[in-house]
Amino acid sequence: MRRWLGISLVVAVTGVTVAALWVTQRDPRLVAVTAAPTRVMGTSCTLTAVVPLRRQEAARRAMHEAETVLRRTEAHMSTHLERSELSRLNAAGAGAIVHLSADTMAVLEAARRLHGETEGAFDATCRPLVELWRDAGRAGRLPEPPALLQARGRSRWDLFELRQDGVVKRTAGARVDLGGIAKGWGIDRAIEELERAGVRGALVEVGGDLRVVGTRPDRSPWSVDVRHPFAEGVVATLRLTNGAVATSGNYARFVTIDGRRYSHIVDPRSGWPAESTPSVTVVAPDALTADAWATALSVLGPWGLARLERRVDIHAMLVTGTPESCAVHTTVGFANLLSAPPRLGCLQAR
Ligand code: ADP
Ligand code: MG
Repeated sequence: MRRWLGISLVVAVTGVTVAALWVTQRDPRLVAVTAAPTRVMGTSCTLTAVVPLRRQEAARRAMHEAETVLRRTEAHMSTHLERSELSRLNAAGAGAIVHLSADTMAVLEAARRLHGETEGAFDATCRPLVELWRDAGRAGRLPEPPALLQARGRSRWDLFELRQDGVVKRTAGARVDLGGIAKGWGIDRAIEELERAGVRGALVEVGGDLRVVGTRPDRSPWSVDVRHPFAEGVVATLRLTNGAVATSGNYARFVTIDGRRYSHIVDPRSGWPAESTPSVTVVAPDALTADAWATALSVLGPWGLARLERRVDIHAMLVTGTPESCAVHTTVGFANLLSAPPRLGCLQAR
């Protein structure tokens, strides 16, 4: 019996070796095919597909499809484009159904779900507040209290009825803003296009938010640097084979009123711009989740990070404070993804 076991083990090991050799021969050198299409969602964009040498043409076709998906997402969901589906919804009156594509409906449904998950911090209905503070920034004057009250009253999910093929608004002034989630959704669909083409690895990055699958051509994990909010350089480096990373923060986008900086992210609970969180980084299984949570944590601050500890699928890092006195906060899961502790030259909290 022992002898048979020994022989079958040798056969099994030999079988494994032969299979490995066969796989190596069938799996020749991998190459990275990259593209950097311009003017995608008004920002930078990089697409990378890792494929065997002979699959380069198929990869290029898939990357073209991925770019098309990103452009379609923008065409449907941008508030900057007057003819987008979203602008049509925002301009619509009360009571009539506004027919929308399945894509836009899916993102609206996801946005409403995330409003609950983030305890109201992520609120895509906050467009009236976003416009109020944008105009205040342009005028260099804080909004009048009645205007603030009115905008708050119009930023509510119960003013929207989501149906199968469209949305009915209960008030003409209710408007949505998918600026904190549509980019993530587009990245996820673009990754799907690349995966459909059978890539061994892929990276889709739009304006600093990204998702990766598989590995790099040398079969090592993808490496993602998180930029320092106050200086040149990198705070932390993440290693990932599957997952998404999104950042949010007021060091890049803000308005100034009376010499004070106000974030472009509003706190839906108060109607005021979110208290400054210089840098938020979120790792999640998909880019939609990472994107929305990065915006939500800009509102919630370190308190939100503590609440996130209950979620095994979402990890985050916050940099709070000022260049003179700042702190890094991470969830335990985020710290585990780092090869070295964050480098900021300031206190590290946990
Ligand atoms: P970035 O565009 O820099 O990646 P975010 O992903 O955090 O930043 O999205 C910020 C955008 O989300 C804002 O420009 C605005 O359009 C929208 N927004 C602002 N505040 C909120 C909020 N509390 N919830 C949902 N969306 C918001
Ligand atoms: Mg976001």
